Amino acid sequence: MPEHEPERFEACDVCGRTILRGERTTPYLTPDGERQNVCALCRERAEEAGWVPADSEAARAIGTEPKFADVILEQVTTFDAAHALEAIAR
Ligand SMILES: [Zn+2]
Repeated sequence: MPEHEPERFEACDVCGRTILRGERTTPYLTPDGERQNVCALCRERAEEAGWVPADSEAARAIGTEPKFADVILEQVTTFDAAHALEAIAR
């Protein structure tokens, strides 16, 4: 196990600026569900472009939580199958 986390040089996906040590980016999702790092100065611009914070409800609505989406899909599929069987039984 390394004693220190390797240094990561992130860059803002809006302005392309390298994020300085101690500076934080906010993960955003584009309407296409692509994850982007946004620096504090670009958050407003990102939101104007329709990007949403990755941890928001809106981001979940985009469907970028595959596990969540899979569960829903499974439920829907199971429901349909049960319905179909019921229809056949009649
Ligand atoms: Zn930026």
